[in-house]
Amino acid sequence: MENVVNLIVGAGFSGATIARKLAEELNQKVVVIDAKDHIAGNAYDYRDRNGIMIHKYGSHIFHTNLENVWQFMSRFTGFNTYMHKVIAVIDGIETTIPFNFRTLYDVFPETMAKRMEEKLLKNFEYNKKVPILEFQKQDDEDLKFLANYVYEKVFLHYTTKQWGVKPDEVDGAVTARVPVYISCDERYFQDKYQGIPLNGYAEVVKNILDHPNIEVRLETKYQDVTEEFDRVFYTGPIDEFFDYKFGELPYRSVNFKMEEYDKEYYQSNAVVNYPCNYDFTRIHEYKYYLDDISSKTVIAKEYSESFERGRNDRYYPIPNDNNAKLYARYLEEAKKLDNVYFLGRLGDYKYYDMDKAINRALELFEEIKGE
Ligand code: FAD
Ligand code: UDP
Repeated sequence: MENVVNLIVGAGFSGATIARKLAEELNQKVVVIDAKDHIAGNAYDYRDRNGIMIHKYGSHIFHTNLENVWQFMSRFTGFNTYMHKVIAVIDGIETTIPFNFRTLYDVFPETMAKRMEEKLLKNFEYNKKVPILEFQKQDDEDLKFLANYVYEKVFLHYTTKQWGVKPDEVDGAVTARVPVYISCDERYFQDKYQGIPLNGYAEVVKNILDHPNIEVRLETKYQDVTEEFDRVFYTGPIDEFFDYKFGELPYRSVNFKMEEYDKEYYQSNAVVNYPCNYDFTRIHEYKYYLDDISSKTVIAKEYSESFERGRNDRYYPIPNDNNAKLYARYLEEAKKLDNVYFLGRLGDYKYYDMDKAINRALELFEEIKGE
């Protein structure tokens, strides 16, 4: 099978991972194309003129419990020990989310916070993560008040800004990513492994793709490729591949408005969420991730918007029942094709974090390596 030539559409983490496996373990030729003028897909980063590592498509924090993914990544980069926290401004008060015991004491008077803390400990196991939609099902008056407070102050407006609909109208798994946390742990992620690649994400993807069997072609769209390949691994949008024959899979897009300031820091943390104010959802300040030293700082205000072809880019698949049904129709079509495989956030239409995208590519490789 050494003469097989593979085409990988997309040079993000999904495409790069499967490319490396095919090149290295099967000794096959691989051509990786990307429509963009850079590798690393949505995880792309670069150092700006001030030496600050900018995450072009918004903050990316690597976190995983998957040993195999961590081992794979660690072949191509070292990581710092950055553990992500998110500050949210609630009624003008800076506190941490997911909502946790510390948040309770930040936003309520001490006696009230203590009473709620005791009730929470009576009703829930310590360290339990409770999705907001489940947390709302309370009998106790204090906890009902608390649930309504968290729903209103943390989720309602942020989710409406982010998804254009209320929290009850997006898939429960989306808001469950930021649960109510019965804990003093203020971190955003509890995964065993977390950090930022020491030289950034684009460098990691470059290293993954750095193999004699791999050729990378940028600014090259699948639709413009005329050569024949033995196999195609497609990490672009699955509906686009089939020319939207069943209709378009909806996405949310994001607009990042970057600003540079002539001061060392703009805000107290890498990410500050504004669940109650403004039209943007959050502000990123990039120099925190790798402790970049500069007298300037760069921030990005994140505005969510609906995706429209030709106007902006696809950022978030929108998980809900209708979209799952539409995706299932495309998947059925995909299964009819020989030697075309779909993967990645766009190919699988799944809200993957980087580790899940990498894991999916590793799993797909195991499935097809004997073919
Ligand atoms: P992508 O990175 O989207 O790569 C797909 C590539 O395919 C793109 O480069 C695209 O140009 C190319 N392509 C598409 N169609 C074509 C075509 N027809 N022809 C040629 N090329 C094509 N994950 C985390 O783990 N931690 C985080 O903190 C985190 N933060 C995020 C923040 C934001 C705002 C977003 C949007 C995502 C975040 N993610 C995070 C998720 C992470 O970006 C994805 O898991 C990861 O980038 C998925 O990689 P991928 O290769 O599947 O897709
Ligand atoms: N969320 C919210 N308020 C917040 C943070 C998150 O309502 O302050 C909800 C919102 O619906 C968001 C989801 O939780 O889309 C997942 O948040 P996460 O930070 O994981 O999203 P991502 O980083 O992928 O954009």
